[in-house]
Amino acid sequence: MVAKIQADEISSIIKERIDNFELNVDINETGKVVTYADGVAQVYGLSNVMAGEMVEFEDGTQGLAMNLEESSVGVVILGRSQEIREGMSVKRLNKLLKVPVGDALLGRVVNAMGEPIDGKGPIESNEMRFVEEKAPGIMARKSVHEPMATGIKAIDALVPIGRGQRELIIGDRQTGKTTVAIDTIINQKGNGVVCIYVAIGQKESTVAQIVRRLEEHGAMEYTIVVNATAAEAAALQYLAPYTGVTMGEYFRDNGRHGLIVYDDLTKHAVAYREMSLILRRPPGREAYPGDVFYLHSRLLERAAKLNDELGGGSLTALPIVETQAGDVAAYIPTNVISITDGQIFLETDLFNSGVRPAINVGLSVSRVGGAAQIKATKQVAGTLRLDLASFRELQAFAQFASDLDEISRNQLERGQRMVEVLKQGPYSPIAVEKQVLIIFAGNNGFLDDMDASNVPRFEAELNPFIEASYPQIFENIRSASKIDDDTNALMKKALEEFKATFVAK
Ligand code: ATP
Ligand code: MG
Repeated sequence: MVAKIQADEISSIIKERIDNFELNVDINETGKVVTYADGVAQVYGLSNVMAGEMVEFEDGTQGLAMNLEESSVGVVILGRSQEIREGMSVKRLNKLLKVPVGDALLGRVVNAMGEPIDGKGPIESNEMRFVEEKAPGIMARKSVHEPMATGIKAIDALVPIGRGQRELIIGDRQTGKTTVAIDTIINQKGNGVVCIYVAIGQKESTVAQIVRRLEEHGAMEYTIVVNATAAEAAALQYLAPYTGVTMGEYFRDNGRHGLIVYDDLTKHAVAYREMSLILRRPPGREAYPGDVFYLHSRLLERAAKLNDELGGGSLTALPIVETQAGDVAAYIPTNVISITDGQIFLETDLFNSGVRPAINVGLSVSRVGGAAQIKATKQVAGTLRLDLASFRELQAFAQFASDLDEISRNQLERGQRMVEVLKQGPYSPIAVEKQVLIIFAGNNGFLDDMDASNVPRFEAELNPFIEASYPQIFENIRSASKIDDDTNALMKKALEEFKATFVAK
């Protein structure tokens, strides 16, 4: 009798437990929107959700769980949904965000979720990767030693970049930052480097123009564009660089070489700040959340040169940062400067005075790229650096003193010509052997007795002359990667011969 009651009790308890258990599961896996504003929803329930997990709203909009609080979860919306309302249900998707990777993406423009937005149909990719991945550790890496030629004379000679390096492009608005990056992409044509251009918070029309520019130069074939425009949700702008780097890592991990441009991380930080403030995370310096440094460092750490056991692939990163009135001491610039391996500093004054690309060669540095520079460039860059340094010193001084001694005057004249040599139009990267030749000509005084304004014409006419009459010069530099004694003598001979015809005009 007693035993029967117990058995009844036990079975009813078990039944009750089962009922409650199911209810609990339901509560943990779905929630309700409590408030929604500016792309961020506070959701009640979802108590099992993990940070960074994907969730889906009743209307199909996806979101990312960012803030896990005691009684609610802060979810950022991945999209432009205007439909989200209080009381709407939200369910866990039990997965982290993944994006498609692989060669199928080349030539395509995608959004921050990796979905095509260029109207060229679906992307036939057979691999997906998590957007948040750990960067390779030190043991997996090898030091940077192969050049990532930009085709820009001033950069390849004075601030050389190597494959796997992270080099910051920094400057005020409209100083040619994007152009440096696009030139570098164009210059990778035919050398197997896959490029990824991540546009963050830009105007749709600007990005369309960049894509057109890349197409014109046949560079879209090996490029992926990830676009999160200013009109899109802050969460998508925040996500875009991670999506881009995930696509780049695929090539890096398969023994190939990638180049990724983040244009720009200032807007990325602003989008993250917007998101964080709406999520009510505590603001820190310049109202950025405290982890904005971590945000950028975990992104840029993923650019790497892998060791030979891992295939020797590389991913080079060119982050761009916009400054206000040249202030590199603001929060985001100092952060990114300290994360990267050097910076290319572009200046408004130089840009406006016609020195384009407007690279301040005194403030620009490359900490690891020197190891990757080819010997021929090293041979000519040493003198160039000295000439430019003494030019800068004298230039400031010469504004006050009209009478200069002859040596100073010569240094000034030489410097002026070298500044001319380093000028270069947009979207016209130059092969390294041609860069070496014109710098060699300047170093050896071949430009000294002509008007500085003739230098661009001299360079433009010199290259076809050498190709026609002394093609072995370019071949020697290309094959030996250095200027040997024979080539040196030949270059001087060719330059003298060309100069005779040039001055005669
Ligand atoms: P923003 O801050 O608006 O993004 P930015 O710093 O990226 O600007 P770009 O868009 O690259 O600057 O260039 C601004 C303008 O300067 C463009 O019209 C571009 O064609 C021109 N420009 C850039 N580099 C050169 C150059 N080397 N020679 C001549 N013009 C150039
Ligand atoms: Mg730009």
